[in-house]
Amino acid sequence: QHYTAEDITKMANDENVEFICLMFTDINGIIKNVEVPISQLDKVLANKITFDGSSIDGFTRIEESDMLLHPDLSTWLIFPWGEEHGKVARLICDIYETDGTPFAGDPRVNLKRIIKKMQDMGYSHFNIGPEPEFFLFNTDEQGNPTLHLNDDGSYFDFSPVDLGVNVRKDIVLGLEKMGFEVEASHHEVAPGQQEIDFKYQDALSAADSIETFKLVVKTIARKHGLFATFMPKPVQGINGSGMHINMSLFNGDTNIFDTKDDMLSDTAKEFMSGVLKHARALTAVNNPTVNSYKRLVPGYEAPTYIAWSSKNRSPLIRVPAATGKAKRIEMRSVDPTTNPYLAIACILDAGLDGVKSNYDLMPEVKDNIYEMSEDKRREEGIVDLPSTLHNALKALRKDEYVQQSLGKELTNSLFAAKNAEWARYQQTVSQWERDTYMSQY
Ligand code: GLU
Ligand code: MG
Ligand code: MG
Repeated sequence: QHYTAEDITKMANDENVEFICLMFTDINGIIKNVEVPISQLDKVLANKITFDGSSIDGFTRIEESDMLLHPDLSTWLIFPWGEEHGKVARLICDIYETDGTPFAGDPRVNLKRIIKKMQDMGYSHFNIGPEPEFFLFNTDEQGNPTLHLNDDGSYFDFSPVDLGVNVRKDIVLGLEKMGFEVEASHHEVAPGQQEIDFKYQDALSAADSIETFKLVVKTIARKHGLFATFMPKPVQGINGSGMHINMSLFNGDTNIFDTKDDMLSDTAKEFMSGVLKHARALTAVNNPTVNSYKRLVPGYEAPTYIAWSSKNRSPLIRVPAATGKAKRIEMRSVDPTTNPYLAIACILDAGLDGVKSNYDLMPEVKDNIYEMSEDKRREEGIVDLPSTLHNALKALRKDEYVQQSLGKELTNSLFAAKNAEWARYQQTVSQWERDTYMSQY
């Protein structure tokens, strides 16, 4: 939806909006929010709201820490809560430097740069359908999460087993009130685990939606006395939470990935060859936490190897049975701790590299890779995904193309944040180690 400044002023008045949240993300994909009272609306619309960039992770430039918020007016919407203290609206912002240039270290600004590159190659849209999964935990008297899952339902279960159903209904209603098109919502495989899928949108809107979605889920869960988490593997021994990314390139209304038959188009195959080529480095962006790698293990429907298939769900990329506008590829490694602006920019740019360079596409894998012997995998040229955050960062260090997809500022701040995170983890001695080694040695 395209809005002018006048439209926004009118809608804010008509709806009695009292506060505006000016949202953007830090390098970790955490939503940052400057809340201003409606009296400041003119200043907001004139791009004059500043904040201190040096206190945001990844924006560390102490010398000139003042930064400007440029709201994207098309992102205007009113949150479905907060009516008792007046309505709250949100605008998602791009970060600008005070000299008027877009800040290259802003993940949203960077995604726009890659989208522009795609458009220069003759495609109008990169459409994204995300499938975020999350867990609902019970809370204690203080409202802190416990380790008790909200239910013991499983895939597609219905109430009364599925106690998540009311929360999920509330979340879906809230999202719809905000203009989201929810395609499906269901209980996932693990107890307490839920999934809500939304209809595909262009890359920028999809990234905006994912960030807003996480906020809505957490807020509404809390209203039900539950705690929602997007941590990839909160409980060992059961499935973790992924955020599969379905994607296709469009030109206007035409899906470039589609053909008349049930095959992928040549462009789709080329695109996929690029994503597969850069897959190891992409993992550092798509799975950016220590915990992400506890999910990427065999046996829990999460990928561990770099391969593609239309037949089963163990490889990195699945080609779902779909035709026409729905023809797409599904990247299954991505988890909800990723910064979606970074993930989508890097996946798109890797795909564009494939379209330009036309790398050899490995043949489709028809067998379950979890059950293949190592020799067989080697024969088929199937490489594994990085097994730890540390290995993923090393893979990113080696892949200059993906670093270029992030740009210098974001690459530097990603490495700074993630190397520090890995070092903190590496220095931690866990209970598992004491249980295993204390009496043995
Ligand atoms: N929860 C699984 C994962 O970790 C995915 C299950 C599914 O196929 O939706 O990716
Ligand atoms: Mg799922
Ligand atoms: Mg899926």
